[in-house]
Amino acid sequence: MTSFVKRIQAWQQQSGRHHLPWQGTTDPYKVWLSEIMLQQTQVSTVIDYYLRFLKKFPSVTALANTPVEEVMPYWAGLGYYARARNLHKCAQIVATQYKGLFPSQASELQKLPGIGESTANSIAAFCFHATTPIMDGNVKRVFTRFYGIEGYGAKTDKQLWEQAYKNVMGEQQIGQYNQGLMDLGSMVCTRSKPKCQECPLRPDCYAFKYSKQAVLPSKKPKKIIPQRETIMLIIRTQHKVLLQKRPAQGIWGGLLSLPELTNEAELNTWLTEHPTLHAQKMASFEHIFSHYRLLIHPVRISATTTLQDSARLAITDTQWYPLSDISSLALPSPVMKLLSTDPEL
Ligand code: SF4
Repeated sequence: MTSFVKRIQAWQQQSGRHHLPWQGTTDPYKVWLSEIMLQQTQVSTVIDYYLRFLKKFPSVTALANTPVEEVMPYWAGLGYYARARNLHKCAQIVATQYKGLFPSQASELQKLPGIGESTANSIAAFCFHATTPIMDGNVKRVFTRFYGIEGYGAKTDKQLWEQAYKNVMGEQQIGQYNQGLMDLGSMVCTRSKPKCQECPLRPDCYAFKYSKQAVLPSKKPKKIIPQRETIMLIIRTQHKVLLQKRPAQGIWGGLLSLPELTNEAELNTWLTEHPTLHAQKMASFEHIFSHYRLLIHPVRISATTTLQDSARLAITDTQWYPLSDISSLALPSPVMKLLSTDPEL
């Protein structure tokens, strides 16, 4: 039977994706940018962000020369903001230590911030013809099903990587193979209802043979995600809203957000200290992070123009922003949603 690699390459040629904006280039900057954006984010979401980002920052030097706070608005909404901060850090290292040229070796690429083994291997294979395999969620799904690899965690990952390196041994130009695996995982060997009838791996696929598609890849053991709560203050005048810059480290690091209070008692104390303010509670909603759920209780506060001095509101690191500028600011997605759907704004 034709080798695993050859079957994937032939399938990619005939049925894979060929028109994504980051395909057909060997520019490591473009490949790197797409790889980072695609981590934990769907292709359909990434396309617009990728094109907008590239238009604004056409080269790694252009990105490195822009202050990080001017870069964040081009990432806002994609989530996982540590990726954007690492992206900027990485661009600065490439611009200064590597004279604007990405290193060609996967082992060197891996030393840069935010670049793991799969991303480094992908850049090396697509841009420098290295024989380096990738391992993202799509590839894991294809491998666990095809080879019947069960389990979850570091031991399973090691097994998957060993298989990945074994597959490409002696092969050349594996860019198309890597692309084919990602395409097959996202178009055919999908999480639910895989289209096995269209799959080039079906004749010797373990999951197909034993009807194990629904149980592979093995599920992560369930962990109860804790819930936290916060009160978000939408302090506004007729045309402006008060936003607070978040600390560089931690959730939504470096982004603008709404001022927060931790609980009802704190809110009551704050309102007592500012008796001229009018507070109105809005519907609470939940935002899910990977490690906890945040229950947000928004409170709309109408301030008069005489209260525009934010220092008098006893909230630090704040600034008034015109409501008309909201859509262009670097705001976390639940805050953006809250502000853009508030009928009073
Ligand atoms: S035959 Fe089905 S389960 Fe096996 S790799 Fe192909 S799509 Fe996935």
